[in-house]
Amino acid sequence: MADNNQLLQAPRGTYDALPEEQKYWRFIKKKFNKRCENFNFSRIDTPFFEYANLFTRSIGETSDIVSKEMFYLAKRGEGEPDLVLRPEGTAGIVRAYIEHGMQNLPKPVKLYYFGPMFRYSRPQSGRFRQFFQLGFEIFGEDDPCSDVLAILLSFSILKDLKLTSNIILEINSLGCKICQKDIRKTLTSYFNQYKEYLCPECFSRLAENPLRILDCKQQRCQSLVKSGPQIVDHLCQDCKEHLQKVLEGLDELGITYDLNPSLVRGLDYYTRTVFEFRDKADETRQSSLGGGGRYDNLVEQYGGPATPAVGFAAGVERIISKLKEYQVKIPQVKKLDVFLIQIGDKAKKKVITLARDLTDQGFSFNCCLGKDSLKSQLRSADKFGATIALIIGQREALDDSVILRNMLTSSQQTVKINKLENILKKQLLKAKQASEQKNN
Ligand code: AMP
Repeated sequence: MADNNQLLQAPRGTYDALPEEQKYWRFIKKKFNKRCENFNFSRIDTPFFEYANLFTRSIGETSDIVSKEMFYLAKRGEGEPDLVLRPEGTAGIVRAYIEHGMQNLPKPVKLYYFGPMFRYSRPQSGRFRQFFQLGFEIFGEDDPCSDVLAILLSFSILKDLKLTSNIILEINSLGCKICQKDIRKTLTSYFNQYKEYLCPECFSRLAENPLRILDCKQQRCQSLVKSGPQIVDHLCQDCKEHLQKVLEGLDELGITYDLNPSLVRGLDYYTRTVFEFRDKADETRQSSLGGGGRYDNLVEQYGGPATPAVGFAAGVERIISKLKEYQVKIPQVKKLDVFLIQIGDKAKKKVITLARDLTDQGFSFNCCLGKDSLKSQLRSADKFGATIALIIGQREALDDSVILRNMLTSSQQTVKINKLENILKKQLLKAKQASEQKNN
């Protein structure tokens, strides 16, 4: 039960996206949607909660996400919960792909999403328990060019958000079903020789998933990783060629990358290409803006037909924090067009009908119906940043007119309501041009 202090705090690891933050959200959603639609992706929204085994089977029982970070949902008093808040987007989309027979759609099937994810991790800067991801998936193509296309779309999204000059792309291959087995075996026998030097977490990873040791940030594990076997040297011929073609495709596009032989990512379903975009100047674990990779076995593993796939997801809060850090100019939200001022009861009624007509015509408005004096309402118009105030007194209410006041110049004119739309349009355009000139 929450105590009184907790009642006044958002739960740990969550935050309120306040009105002043909304311009960032709007900017990111707009750029992201536009890019995805231009690449002819279709939007998909899946539930915020799913059956737990959807994730245990795909992300891997031994991954941090499944073993420590899932939020289980249960009805009070009922036994073992079998539902969890989704920790990531791909598994739900693969489930929906099979459930709705999307394998029968023309290939490639290209889907994008934007929504909240939930992980019960230790909250810290850039790490939340509820956070948003934007992402996409491409089903049905195993050609390396499909990986290049996925990286190109991810890169283009970050370019539209004006972040590409500060980030690097890291890339690696984890091999296919067959060579990945070989790689795990090789890594296990190598690390087994030095297991007493591994950090406690990697010590237990050794039996379960030796690949995860590669991206451990502990100095002692990193030194072992550096002098140990490299995944690329153990890829089968097909996987080597696949990686080579992806790199050639990136060269062709002029997208620079670092081949990082220890990049493995935290989810077990990846095969072959994995990639990640990181902030160049940030050495912390939270430097990853987004990442993705190929997962050629997942659809089949869930009982669907064998379907190669590749996807990407980025953290929206991390993007916002970088937009702020790099002072990316975010387009201003449209200014408030008109503030409606009423003096007297009749005028108050008029304000409501005028509000209806103005918003029907596409103008934005605000008003303070609890205030009566002209002076205080003009002050409000100023505080809300209105371009124009429309004043209705007793006389104006009777003869269907308004006093139009330009808030910048304080000039006033009386206008008949049936002529208002055109005059407002002209005055707002003039005001917009004047402010653009001032800003240039
Ligand atoms: P993942 O789904 O783990 O591949 O993560 C993809 C991206 O989501 C990361 O690069 C981060 O930008 C973001 N992300 C992952 N976990 C969190 C978290 N707990 N809080 C905020 N962002 C996160």
